[in-house]
Parts: sequence; structure tokens; C-alpha cells
Amino acid sequence: MRLEALHHITMITADATENVRFHADVLGLRLVKKTVNFDDPLSYHLYFGDETGAPGSILTWFEAPGAAAGRAGAGMIHRIDLSVPSADSLGFWEARLAAAGVPVRREGDALLFADPDGLAFALVPQGANPPLTARHPEVPAEHAITGIEAVRAYTPADPAAEDPVLTELLGFSFAGDGAYAVEGSERSFRIVFDPAPDAPGLNGAGTVHHIAWASRDEDHVGWQERVARAGGRVSPVMDRDYFRSIYFRVPTGLLFEIATLSPGFAVDEDPERLGEELRLPAMHAHLREHLERSLTPLANPRAAVAG
Ligand code: ZN
Repeated sequence: MRLEALHHITMITADATENVRFHADVLGLRLVKKTVNFDDPLSYHLYFGDETGAPGSILTWFEAPGAAAGRAGAGMIHRIDLSVPSADSLGFWEARLAAAGVPVRREGDALLFADPDGLAFALVPQGANPPLTARHPEVPAEHAITGIEAVRAYTPADPAAEDPVLTELLGFSFAGDGAYAVEGSERSFRIVFDPAPDAPGLNGAGTVHHIAWASRDEDHVGWQERVARAGGRVSPVMDRDYFRSIYFRVPTGLLFEIATLSPGFAVDEDPERLGEELRLPAMHAHLREHLERSLTPLANPRAAVAG
């Protein structure tokens, strides 16, 4: 039993309109699902990814309209590294982000910037992962974002010491200096821990809520049992319509989810029309009329391209 690398990462945005403008229109990701937070159905849950919404390509946001900006501290992810085909693509993105009014900074082979909520991102040349790309009329295929490569998080512990929850329980490998890798059968992912700043973290806009690792469907309950046996407080299996999930907090403070690889985002929409309509789980379907009035109206930029 091993984790199949990353499934998705979930953040908080104060403004769904700006969030879609930036991640779909500027970065060129595909908005693959427009739904609500299943645990708090009055707010959006937006999923972005590659053309098919493949696990490993997914960035998601809960909208908390007007939420104050948060701040990453101990036990929180503070940067997401997206991959591009090669270092040659960084010049394209430097110009594209600058044209969109986004300040950028080069640091070695990484291009650093923040999204409209202030969350830090880096574009880095891709490693060995097969590319997961979305089409965008202004982003040439040779420069399109190819997936999510790594995250950086703040740990309250000493990053130099191996964390056995990550290695022994979850099967990550430790490379020293806070760096861990999780190798699935097709994809790998890195999580790197930095020493936490003195200021405590604050949940809010621009912060990461949780990170989800992918599991083969047949292993999912096995992972739940394994975490429980190790003394972890793990949630029941939750049906998220597009995958099934379990949640548990690890000692460094991060909220981990393990999500199944299937059924995926085409389970309730035509693959050509992903993310165009508000999709609601059966348990919240009765709220549709209210939600269509109360949620920020959001057009999927891809709907216009398709037409
Ligand atoms: Zn999640």
C-alpha cells in the first residue's frame, strides 16, 4: 500500500471572482468544478486543474467572501510550487504575470509571485512527472503549467529531524533538511519543511486549509485503519462525490486528507463542459434556489472559449 502522490491542495479565498480571474484567466488552469463546501454549503468550493481534472493537478478554494488575510505560521503550508516544462518557460510567465500587474521575482530556477489573496507560489521546471496541462488560448502549449510539483510548509519541530509519521506511517522518504518525497506508481510529490517564523499563523484568506494525498480506491479503508491503529484521530470516510476522503491532523499541525483516485470530476458533468454549472451534492440539492441567488455569480472562462 502506497500513496499515489498528491491529490489536491485546498485554500481559502476572500473573492471567488478574482480567484477565477487569476487562476483560470492568468495562469491558464481549467476551472473543473464549481460546487459548494460540502461541510458549509453556503460557500463555494472551486476546483482548478488540468483538462480532465486529474488527481495531482488540482488546486481548490473555499470562498469566505471578504475574509481578512491570513498568515502562514507553524503547521501551515506557505508556498505551492507549480511546474512548467523547462526553465525556458519562466521568461514567458515573467512577462505574462507582469502584464497582469502581478509582481514577480526570480530566485534561481524559480519564478516567485503571489495570487490575489497573497498566497505564495513558485513556477519551477518540472521533474519526472508526466505533464498534466490545461488549454488556454493565450498560453502556448510549450509553456503551459504542467502540474503541482511541491509545497513548502512551516514546522514547529526541527526540520533536520525525520518525522516518523511521514516516513513510517505514510511511506514518505526523507532526504534531509526538511525535504520529503512521496512516490506513487505514476507521480511523485515533494513537501519541504522550513523552520516556523516566530509569529503564530492566522487562518484566513490566502492560507492553505489542507493537503490531500491520493490513494487507490481499494487501499482507502486500509489507510483509515492504518492511521487509526497508529493512534491518529481519523475521520469517517466522507463521500465527496468526486472522490472519497478521510482527514487527520499530523503532529506538525498540518491537516492531511487521503482521497481516492476515482470517480473523478466527469461523474456529474460532460468532460467537455466541466466546471460550467453549479453542481450540488444530493444532500444540498434542496438549497439550489437559495444558493443561485446568494453565491457570487461566476462565469467559467472556458465556457466562452468552447462556444
Ligand atoms: Zn480536500
